[in-house]
Amino acid sequence: MLSLYNTLTKQKEAFKSINPGKVGMYSCGPTVYDYIHIGNIRAYLNADILRRYLVYLGYEVRHIKNITDVGHLTEDDIAQGDSGDDKIAKKALSERKTPEEIARFYEEKFKEVEKEMNILPAHYFPRATAHVPQMIKIISSLIEKEYAYEKNGNVFFDVTKFDEYGKLSGNTLDNLKVGARLEEHPDKKNPWDFALWLKASKEHLMKWESPWGIGYPGWHIECSAMSTEYLGDTLDIHTGGEDNIFPHHEAEIAQSECSSEKKFVNFWVHNRHLLVDGKKMSKSKGNFYLLKDILEKGYTANEMRLLLLSSHYRSQMNFTWEAMEQAKNNLQKISDWVNNLKNVSGVSKGELLEKIDFSHIYQKRFESAMNDDINTPLALAVIYDLISETNKMISEDKLDKETADNILKFWERINKVFGLIISENKIEIPADILTLAEERKQARISGNFAVSDELRKKIELAGYVIEDLKDNNYLIKK
Ligand SMILES: [Zn+2]
Repeated sequence: MLSLYNTLTKQKEAFKSINPGKVGMYSCGPTVYDYIHIGNIRAYLNADILRRYLVYLGYEVRHIKNITDVGHLTEDDIAQGDSGDDKIAKKALSERKTPEEIARFYEEKFKEVEKEMNILPAHYFPRATAHVPQMIKIISSLIEKEYAYEKNGNVFFDVTKFDEYGKLSGNTLDNLKVGARLEEHPDKKNPWDFALWLKASKEHLMKWESPWGIGYPGWHIECSAMSTEYLGDTLDIHTGGEDNIFPHHEAEIAQSECSSEKKFVNFWVHNRHLLVDGKKMSKSKGNFYLLKDILEKGYTANEMRLLLLSSHYRSQMNFTWEAMEQAKNNLQKISDWVNNLKNVSGVSKGELLEKIDFSHIYQKRFESAMNDDINTPLALAVIYDLISETNKMISEDKLDKETADNILKFWERINKVFGLIISENKIEIPADILTLAEERKQARISGNFAVSDELRKKIELAGYVIEDLKDNNYLIKK
């Protein structure tokens, strides 16, 4: 039984979907005005692993990931009143492009990175700009129910009207009053009220008509509108980075629950931050990385994927180049193992000593690691143990083809969860090399080591390596 840590209840809970066998999952997607960095990749990868494991367990998962193509407002922007900057529009002005051109360009780049990382594409990527009517509908219902108020073309959510405000983040109004240093918007009733809609100035590029005049939506309302549009009023799972918990997800709960009068999300799943060299990533500190920077250092996206899986999503992860190198070695180890399993079984002439399908034991261990709040580092450790055991058997020539095939099948099943790409290295050994190897074996058996060395050289000259196993058996590698 899968147990997941729920940010809402602050404990691990047995996962249960609303509809048996089906899961509706929403992930906050990118604001498309720049390239995503490796911290963002971590968040999308964690959602990917969770989704893949749910599929492994037999669920049919519908995954929605939004594209924020209206630059969302920060609290500071709101505090500055009508001139709230739109990040996409700002970039558009600086690059002499339209906001749409900017948004489409970075959306495309985002999808390319996801593809390179082997992150399964969401079933749908709704764009915020295509869902303004849905946002207006929710805002109107909130005004009608008096959870929201309009002033001078701006609409705010009145946080004092929702008793449960703060239940996700712990930032209840009482807690917020301590140390609150938010500037007040002249039209806000309470400093912690958040914008649902803002009046657009003449210069503002992205704006829409609404019952409150020409304006644009706040960021939080986008996710409430798009998630419920595609998944219904109550979602099974909502994912995001820990920085989304407040104010973004707290606001999503307030808007959605006050409007639908239903629970918004059953499981809130948040990943912790990724640090680089022990520090928060920042462009000025020079420790800000995109996937491109990792590739330029000679590593692959696949190695990056393994690195990210090597730490639990709820622990802070520290990216270092040493850890990257370790991930590269580990991927090589997995890759060699898979290819050895494929090759040795065909070439080895060993006698079978014991025949047990021990992949079941490893399957149980893998599942118990994953069932425990998607513990990927532990699940990988299980695989490394399996590699050690089978490599030992291969070197002692104790692994028969059937067992090797069972282990390979097991690996293929669980690698649908890990999503690592293992390059096919199955080598077809030409018949003349096989003949030379057999001749060499006979020479060794009869103690004719000069001939055996000669034959080894011949084999090596042809580009193959021969590795001796127990009882004069051997393994040929390219
Ligand atoms: Zn969101």
